[in-house]
Amino acid sequence: MKVMKFGGTSVGSAERMKNVANLVTESGQQRFLVLSAMSGTTNSLVEISNYLYKKNPEGANEVINRLEVKYMKTIEELYSSKEWKDNTKNFLKSEFDYLRSFTKELFTSFEEKSIVAQGEIMSTNMMTNYMKEQGKDVVLLSALDFMRTDKNAEPDPQYIKEKLVAIIENDPNQQIYITQGFICRNAYGEIDNLQRGGSDYTASLIGAAINAEEIQIWTDIDGMHNNDPRIVDKTTPVHRLCFEEAAELAYFGAKILHPTCVQPAKFSGIPVRLLNTMNPSAEGTTISNTSEKGKIKAVAAKDSITAIKIKSSRMLLATGFLRKVFEIFESYQTSIDMVCTSEVGVSMSIDDNSHVNEIVDELKKYGTVTIDNDMCIICVVGDLDWSNVGFETLATDAMKDIPVRMISYGGSNYNISFLIKAVDKKRALQSLSNLLFKNR
Ligand code: ADP
Ligand code: ASP
Ligand code: MG
Repeated sequence: MKVMKFGGTSVGSAERMKNVANLVTESGQQRFLVLSAMSGTTNSLVEISNYLYKKNPEGANEVINRLEVKYMKTIEELYSSKEWKDNTKNFLKSEFDYLRSFTKELFTSFEEKSIVAQGEIMSTNMMTNYMKEQGKDVVLLSALDFMRTDKNAEPDPQYIKEKLVAIIENDPNQQIYITQGFICRNAYGEIDNLQRGGSDYTASLIGAAINAEEIQIWTDIDGMHNNDPRIVDKTTPVHRLCFEEAAELAYFGAKILHPTCVQPAKFSGIPVRLLNTMNPSAEGTTISNTSEKGKIKAVAAKDSITAIKIKSSRMLLATGFLRKVFEIFESYQTSIDMVCTSEVGVSMSIDDNSHVNEIVDELKKYGTVTIDNDMCIICVVGDLDWSNVGFETLATDAMKDIPVRMISYGGSNYNISFLIKAVDKKRALQSLSNLLFKNR
């Protein structure tokens, strides 16, 4: 069985939903579909929650009304029969009544998760009904019945596997399953989610649980490009990546893939393919265990980075000094992306600023602390093993006109990272593209 995940733009209109239905049923093979909410919906649901937090029911109602108009229009365009239009309209009416119910009572943080879950619940119901109208053999599974996280908010693969295998074994000939990406239950049975963009993670977790032949991530672009197409001109698709390269790119800002999605697929050895709903015959990108020797594959950028430097001539290289520094970050649940050390100082970068003041206060016990805000990490990814002489020179050459705050090379065989000012990001990405990919 193949898992096929369709993102927000791929189910973003009646026409797109029809395309997806055709694409899925063309093959006549068993499929497990994972759908995101229609594009823009999760943002609107977050906006509704924010209004409710601020005790502004009028603001929330305005967004709910706008969303309802959009969905009712989609229903008109999607179904041909009155029966399926009425059936789906009734379902959506109950959804919008549910959202409105929060504007009339006291709102708690627990309910925010239920509100943002409704986007995927709506899109999967609409798609299931459309495929049923088309006479397809399809069944809708609620992700809330099998997707669960543990007390550390990490998915519980054993539970997910047991539930899904039982469902499939119960009806081994079922052609198409549809379920929601993103949403889950937490260890206490409450509705929760796998973080924004987390439908990719759902697909990968399901793929691993059912030992799928392949996990396909269908989106609005023909695979992973060699640079960020939103920023740089003339980017081109990379046809093959190994899991490590894909993980580096996803973590360092290539939005096409959620970083968490790589691990379950890699662990189970299941290839992941990135494909374009708008151009289904394009080759896309295949991510697998196979690496291509001696190639620089792509460049990505991660925004909103803060650099923290601690200088301490007395203590730096004393045994245990780095441990004390890292423990401070750990105690505030803040992960470090880059680290550089020298005889008198250590510099680190973080992407989560929520505890930066507390961290700095504690670091001051050990030395002089300085901070650089509004930075970004530029990450060059490929087979960068140090036996490939000259790759790091090529990358640094492209950065020759850009002030570089930190460089990291050798942490893995797959990445060279540069920490630069956010204002220089576009220039750096373009320059790397010009130099690294000019002949491709
Ligand atoms: P979906 O809604 O299908 O999950 P996303 O918006 O999350 O889609 O991801 C697809 C988008 O990722 C593309 O439209 C593209 O603008 C962006 N993107 C950023 N970096 C890359 C890259 N290196 N290659 C391809 N797409 C990228
Ligand atoms: N709908 C969710 C979001 O917009 C999850 C996803 O699309 O992956 O973040
Ligand atoms: Mg996405």
